[in-house]
Amino acid sequence: MNTQPANDILQLMETMHYDEILNCMRCGFCLPACPTYRETGKETASPRGRIAMMKAVVNGQLDISEKFDSDMYLCLGCRACETACPAGVPYGKLIEGAREVVETYRKRPIFIRLVHNLTMQRLFPYPNRMQKLGSLLYFYQKSGLATLARKSGIMKLLPRSMAEMEKAVPQAASPAERKARQRFVPAKGEKRMTVGLFTGCVMDVMFFNTNEATAKLLSAFGCDVVYIEGQTCCGALHAHAGDKEAAKQLAKQNIEAFEGSGVEGLVNNAGGCGAALKEYHHWFQGDPEWEPRARRFVEAQRDVNELLATLPLPKMRPLPCRVTYQDSCHLAHGQKVRWQPRELLKSIPGIEYVELPEADRCCGSAGIYNITNFDMSMRILDGKMQQVKETKADLVVTSNPGCLLQMRAGIVRAGLQDRMRAVHIADLLYEAVAEPAP
Ligand code: SF4
Ligand code: SF4
Repeated sequence: MNTQPANDILQLMETMHYDEILNCMRCGFCLPACPTYRETGKETASPRGRIAMMKAVVNGQLDISEKFDSDMYLCLGCRACETACPAGVPYGKLIEGAREVVETYRKRPIFIRLVHNLTMQRLFPYPNRMQKLGSLLYFYQKSGLATLARKSGIMKLLPRSMAEMEKAVPQAASPAERKARQRFVPAKGEKRMTVGLFTGCVMDVMFFNTNEATAKLLSAFGCDVVYIEGQTCCGALHAHAGDKEAAKQLAKQNIEAFEGSGVEGLVNNAGGCGAALKEYHHWFQGDPEWEPRARRFVEAQRDVNELLATLPLPKMRPLPCRVTYQDSCHLAHGQKVRWQPRELLKSIPGIEYVELPEADRCCGSAGIYNITNFDMSMRILDGKMQQVKETKADLVVTSNPGCLLQMRAGIVRAGLQDRMRAVHIADLLYEAVAEPAP
């Protein structure tokens, strides 16, 4: 029996982008690109199969059942299928619509709702609370609590996914470092433009120092860098989890903050956030007030690699090491930024660049997928680490916080921690342009 009322069909067609669903010609070109299809061999774990299920739901031939729910959430949302699709089916948009429908029709257990409410509604949208969370993380790591928790075996009480990812969390910035953040970093040498830095939510908790390095890196490339007051989480995690209304509220706040800032461009260093920020105009499609404002906002967006690749290179010092690069899915498939990070890496003197086979295949991080779908995430990660290992690189570079955490976890799982590190591209580039300490 179909669970959705008949009078909701029009709403379903709109939310699930039925016109775009119909563009899928079932050719199957996307199947070899899909990590979950490759792992399972099942049509229901493929882009084509998922699109067919979405269509069947709108047509009233399939329930919005537990099975439909799990099939939609087994998808990584990596959008590799979009790159492979000759018909230009915007799969990322379709899966967000399908999940919005799942969240509307399926009631979650109270614990899941509490966690969702705590993280998505009460933490991520509030930069001050996120900074406090960062300071708590610093004290947990520095006070010896982290070591104690690991030695005492208490971590075994946590779900395996949390215990495994905890090992990958980097040293957090101290409260003093957070307080000392410069609101304005002037350009070095000839000034080329004024940009705002989008700092993100999780990025600013776990990789605060990478954000700081990004500001200084932009300055070394001739940009005045402004920290834009009033900015907040991009809303990507909310949109991927089917909570479009919350995502849109965050988008409005970011658009307003940008409009009052006077900067020429807005730069981010997180592939996942960047893809969402560049799609705000889709979120407000048909809204006479917000769509044009979102379009102006989108035009100002630049991934940090994308912008730096257009600017003259500053002087760099040699960093002799062997480096490989793992694409962020939402940077490569979502934003089509592929050659820029590679060229920037190759421009560092002393670096031996080696291309990672299937570098644009997802590492299994996918937002919070490595927590919610731990087993599948680790299967995908272990395959990825085998390829990373074969590059014999000293450094695996990424351009997104989730990928960076996942690669750090993968290095530990593969026992490579003595011979390899995972770094954010902004940290590595900044190391090359920074003046050596006297
Ligand atoms: S987004 Fe990724 S996991 Fe999902 S269907 Fe497309 S290729 Fe497969
Ligand atoms: S490649 Fe595109 S058109 Fe072909 S089955 Fe996949 S989504 Fe449909």
